[in-house]
Amino acid sequence: SIEVRNATKRFGDFVALDDVSVSIPTGQLTALLGPSGGGKSTLLRIIAGLETADSGSVSIEGRDATHEPAQKRNVGFVFQHYAAFKHMTVAKNVAFGLEIRKTPKEEIRERVDELLRLVHLQQFADRKPSQLSGGQRQRMALARALAVRPSVLLLDEPFGALDAKVRKELRDWLRHLHDEVPVTTVFVTHDQEEALEVADEIVVVNEGRVEQVGSPDDLYDAPANRFVMGFLGPVT
Ligand code: ATP
Ligand code: MG
Repeated sequence: SIEVRNATKRFGDFVALDDVSVSIPTGQLTALLGPSGGGKSTLLRIIAGLETADSGSVSIEGRDATHEPAQKRNVGFVFQHYAAFKHMTVAKNVAFGLEIRKTPKEEIRERVDELLRLVHLQQFADRKPSQLSGGQRQRMALARALAVRPSVLLLDEPFGALDAKVRKELRDWLRHLHDEVPVTTVFVTHDQEEALEVADEIVVVNEGRVEQVGSPDDLYDAPANRFVMGFLGPVT
C-alpha cells in the first residue's frame, strides 16, 4: 500500500497541500480527482519522490520512503505529455529501463514482446514514436513504465492531451489492463466521468485537502459535502 500521512507542502506562502493523509491499498486503481490547482499533481509528485513535502511522511509497501529519492522507490510514471526517445524505436523505448539495469538481452526481448502485446502495439515495435498516434504513444509510455515491474504506477492525466473519443477508449482499456496486471495505480484526473468509470476508489482533492475518499458508488450516492456534490453533479 501507499500511505501518505499529514503531508503539507507550501510554495512560498501558498499552501498547496494542507495536512493530507491518504491510504492507497495494494493492487487498487485509485483516482485523484479534483479541479485544476487543487493539489493532485503535487500529491502524486510527493508519492513519486519528485517533490518533498515540508512535513509528513510517505510509506510504500510498508517501507518508509519519505527521504528516498525517486529512483529508489520502484515507481513507474506516465505524464500528460509523453516523454520518449525520439531517435529510438518503440521497442527500444520500452526496453530502455531494462537495458540500463543490464537485464540479459534474451529476457529483454521476451519482456518487450509481452509488453507490446499487452498494450496492443506489437505491429509498431520498429516504428519511431513520431510515427504513432497520441493514444498509441501513451500506450507505449505505459508499457515503458511497466517494463521494470514497478510496485506502483503513477499516471498524471495520461490521456489529458487526447481527444474525447480516444480518451474514452484508453480509459476503458486502462481498466482492462489493470485487471490483467493489477499493479497499485494512482491516476490523476480532473474529469469526474473518467474517475467514476475507471477507479476502484476515488480521492477527491480540492484546495490542498482531501474532501472525500470512497468508491464511485459511495461518492455518487453519498457525497460528503457540497463541494463533492457540486463537482460530481454535472455528470451526464
Ligand atoms: P491541474 O489539474 O491544473 O494539473 P493540480 O490539482 O494538479 O492542477 P497542482 O499542480 O498540484 O494542481 O498545484 C497545486 C497548487 O500549487 C497550484 O495552485 C499551483 O499553482 C501550485 N504549485 C504547484 N507547483 C508549484 C511550484 N513549483 N511553484 C509554485 N507553485 C506551485
Ligand atoms: Mg496537475
